[in-house]
Amino acid sequence: MFTLEFEQMPYLQAIPLPQTLLNQKITFSVLRLDVIHSEISGNKWFKLKNYLNNALLQNCQRIVTFGGPFSNHILATAAACQQAKIACLGIIRGEKVNNYTLAAAAEKGMALHFVSREAYKNKRLLQQQLQQPNDYFINEGGYGHLGALGAKDIHSFIPPTATHILAAVGTGTMAAGLLMAAEPNQTIIAIPVLKGADAIQQDIAALVNDSDKMKQMIWKNEYHFGGYAKHPAALIQSMNEWWNLYQLPTDIVYTAKLIYATRHLMEQQFFPPNSHVVAIHSGGLQGNTSLSKNILQF
Ligand SMILES: *Cc1c(COP(=O)(O)O)cnc(C)c1O
Repeated sequence: MFTLEFEQMPYLQAIPLPQTLLNQKITFSVLRLDVIHSEISGNKWFKLKNYLNNALLQNCQRIVTFGGPFSNHILATAAACQQAKIACLGIIRGEKVNNYTLAAAAEKGMALHFVSREAYKNKRLLQQQLQQPNDYFINEGGYGHLGALGAKDIHSFIPPTATHILAAVGTGTMAAGLLMAAEPNQTIIAIPVLKGADAIQQDIAALVNDSDKMKQMIWKNEYHFGGYAKHPAALIQSMNEWWNLYQLPTDIVYTAKLIYATRHLMEQQFFPPNSHVVAIHSGGLQGNTSLSKNILQF
């Protein structure tokens, strides 16, 4: 069996709360999954491992997947396929662009195929058009049962004392895995980073396949900051603040919104006294390469 290696073990970073929140008697820590690998960062490492093994088991010759031009999933897949010594094709949304994400993916051996935003919407047709014998398809963002089963393992790095686990949501695969593994007294707080993404709750339910477990999820849809990858000044300011106070680097697409939401919920006294709140730093810092220099202080 093929295994992806950690470059560094994930760890729990304790975050001392500011004076104004001290009276709430909650503890807060961040699970640093961003450190596990420079390219197969955060939750992508967990979501990809079972797909790769399945592909190798079936003697597939090539991994094919989908993503936007700044996609963490694309770069992580390219790096993971290089480790697994299997060819890969990335089907990329939109006009050809030159950026860090795609250059790094290509450097790792991923072939890139650009399609219009219109064509990108019909992934089934693209699959039919581009499929070769012995291809193995992975959904955009690694959505699917094997992805969720991999993400379930993230839970083993969370202390059993945790009462509230906060996760950023793209496809919902990580949230599904966390729900599968959650103890009965643990609440998973899902922070969707897309606007109008409430239907993703059904995608999560489809993976979890257990209506009782689904009751352990709280869906907080007011932290998307205008939509996917939108990053108004207030978000950037919060990112710089968290970096300066706690040396916590976040990315504009996912973890900045997650951390902002966590802090905001604390300010609203959302968490009961004696809660142990754990936010999952799901990686993906390369997404910040879309920003111009000097915006972030890290
Ligand atoms: C992909 C990604 C997510 C979203 O995970 P899903 O399983 O698609 O919900 C969250 N955080 C980071 C940093 C990511 O790269």
